[in-house]
Amino acid sequence: MQIWMRYDVIVVGGGMAGMTAAMYARRAGKRTLVLEAQAYGGQILPAGEVENYPGVPGATGAGLSQALEEQLDRLGAERKHARVTGVQTEAGGFLVRTDGANDFHAARVILAVGVRRRRLEIPGEERLTGRGVSWCATCDGNFFRGRQVAVAGGGNTAVQEALHLSVICERVWLIHRRDTLRADAWLTERMRQAGNIVFVPGVIIREVLGDAAVEGLLLAPANSAAHKSGNPPTDFTTACESGNPSTDSPLREFGNPFADSGRAARFPAPASAPARQPETGRIPHAAVGGKRTSAEPEAHTTPANSGSPSPAGAPAIAAEASGPLAVTAPTVLRVSALFEAVGMLPQNQPFADLVPLDKNGYFLVGEDCRTPVPGLFVAGDCRAKAVRQLVSAAADGAAAAMAATED
Ligand SMILES: Cc1cc2nc3c(=O)[nH]c(=O)nc-3n(C[C@H](O)[C@H](O)[C@H](O)COP(=O)(O)OP(=O)(O)OC[C@H]3O[C@@H](n4cnc5c(N)ncnc54)[C@H](O)[C@@H]3O)c2cc1C
Repeated sequence: MQIWMRYDVIVVGGGMAGMTAAMYARRAGKRTLVLEAQAYGGQILPAGEVENYPGVPGATGAGLSQALEEQLDRLGAERKHARVTGVQTEAGGFLVRTDGANDFHAARVILAVGVRRRRLEIPGEERLTGRGVSWCATCDGNFFRGRQVAVAGGGNTAVQEALHLSVICERVWLIHRRDTLRADAWLTERMRQAGNIVFVPGVIIREVLGDAAVEGLLLAPANSAAHKSGNPPTDFTTACESGNPSTDSPLREFGNPFADSGRAARFPAPASAPARQPETGRIPHAAVGGKRTSAEPEAHTTPANSGSPSPAGAPAIAAEASGPLAVTAPTVLRVSALFEAVGMLPQNQPFADLVPLDKNGYFLVGEDCRTPVPGLFVAGDCRAKAVRQLVSAAADGAAAAMAATED
């Protein structure tokens, strides 16, 4: 292992927090290196449209990421691709170990490693990943234009994913293990207005069904004996939204439509896909079955489409059901895709020997981004905090770099 040159500041992670930190460090005249394991841009990279980031309405995630990279290059920050496997204290600073050909020395280190998306870890998920199981509606939703799809989760991210899909897909089933959504009221109101999102409360997904592509989901009541005696469900409790969805690897884990053009061919839109209204882009409701007027949950009944995958004789949900929908026994829901939005996993474990973590694995560090180790800082979504957004990631990056360059 060759040890390369010494830097004033090394930033671990090339998302919004890390790139902002590098920008501030360079502007303070510090020799700065950013190490990124996957793709510069981080979680925002696959986003079709960036919202709530001031001054760039209509920007795409890829466009914003590229602008940040160019800004860093103009400022003279160095950027390399490597996964940091650990950071050790040493005289005068830190040794930053990587999985690449080189390790690096730095006087200051800023950890901006973000989070990645949690998985349900149920049968069929692994096999059908990239074949209908996805963690990013903005990346993969278009493959399921005109079809019925499901979203797992009940927080802001799950509802946002469902809303995004509702303008592309015939119908979206929002499946949540709890009885009520945890999303903000304005989002649930938008969901109600969408007209083709069906809420399925108190339900777990036991299995993703299908061989070459997703054909359906096996559902069970969250509190049922059937559920308890079968595969243990993923515990979403701690996974539910504490911010935005994430990954350390949008290109690898979420799938990158540009990297795998074969996927479009694997998911062609069905010839029978209902036509969209030209003025709204939305599929007319008549095309997807009547909308229920009652707010009462609709108990499922054995339907006309029960010829679909039905393990153990489980009945299938009626194609015309709208919702909210009560599932009282193991039940098959026929969908072409499952979008998982069940929480985030911070990427902090390699650094847990230096910085304390909270019970969910986030760095327990305050607004000043300082850790108990002098010269070591954290920034962005990897930190324990209430809001995980681009603006707060950028703010952290600035705070961490200013503290790092002042100390
Ligand atoms: C689909 C989607 C849409 C979103 N839309 C919006 C939006 O419209 N508006 C908004 O404000 N927010 C949005 N967010 C949230 C926003 O993207 C995040 O809050 C923000 O990107 C967090 O930035 P970050 O730098 O802290 O972390 P991340 O973006 O997660 O970046 C961390 C980076 O660190 C890298 N890394 C991790 N571990 C290592 C390691 N050991 N060595 C080297 N590199 C490592 C990762 O590969 C990653 O690139 C969205 C998120 C997603 C997933």
